[in-house]
Formats: sequence, structure tokens, C-alpha cells
Amino acid sequence: MTHPDDDPEMISFELICPECGVSNPENAEYCLVCERDLRNTLLFLEDDSFDLEITTDSLIEYRKNFWGTSRTGKVIKYPLSEISNLEFGSPITRFKFDFNGKRHVIPLKNENMKSLKQVLNKILD
Ligand SMILES: [Zn+2]
Repeated sequence: MTHPDDDPEMISFELICPECGVSNPENAEYCLVCERDLRNTLLFLEDDSFDLEITTDSLIEYRKNFWGTSRTGKVIKYPLSEISNLEFGSPITRFKFDFNGKRHVIPLKNENMKSLKQVLNKILD
């Protein structure tokens, strides 16, 4: 007996749509559900107080409400070319960077920190 989930040939649905939260195939150009353009989305992370999207040129923060159940509508876009002095995991799960002459600190879950570090190091190099 084989279970379909065990099939190594299965397409991985790892790209989460920043708009509607649905998982899409890794190479999807547009979201299967809401048709959002996913071509520039490199990484999408859901965290407690915000969602983070990394595109080819920006870091985008979607603020969530206190309970983390829905977005407040506040969206902050940091162009990657304007952030500097990146620091990962100091003290433990804080991502820090300089933007607009100010030090920004973003608390992240440990697993999200790892993914973010990996992707950002790749594109900023
Ligand atoms: Zn979508």
C-alpha cells in the first residue's frame, strides 16, 4: 500500500500567497485562487504579529491585530536597496536592520528567522 503523500514526485506546494494564504506550487506565476502575481515573491512568512513577504526588491510587512488572527491593513514596504546593517538572531529571535536612518527590530519565530536569513543572504550577496 502506498499513500499519495509519500510519493516523492508530488509537486510541493510551498509558496504561500501573501494575499489569500493559499499554498501554491513552487513555480506558480499567479495564485491559483486569487490570481495575485507571485512572480516576484521569494518568500512568505506568517508570524505572530505580522506576515512578512520577501520579493526580489523589497521586504514587506503586513501588520496583524493583537491576536494575530487578521491583518490590520497596515503595510510597510522596505526596499532592499535601502536597508543595511542586517543582524539576525540577536539576542535570539530578533531581526534588526537600518532603514531611513532608524534601527528597526522585528521579532520572529525561530523557524521564520532561519528562512529569512537564508533568502536574504542569497539575494543581498
Ligand atoms: Zn491568493
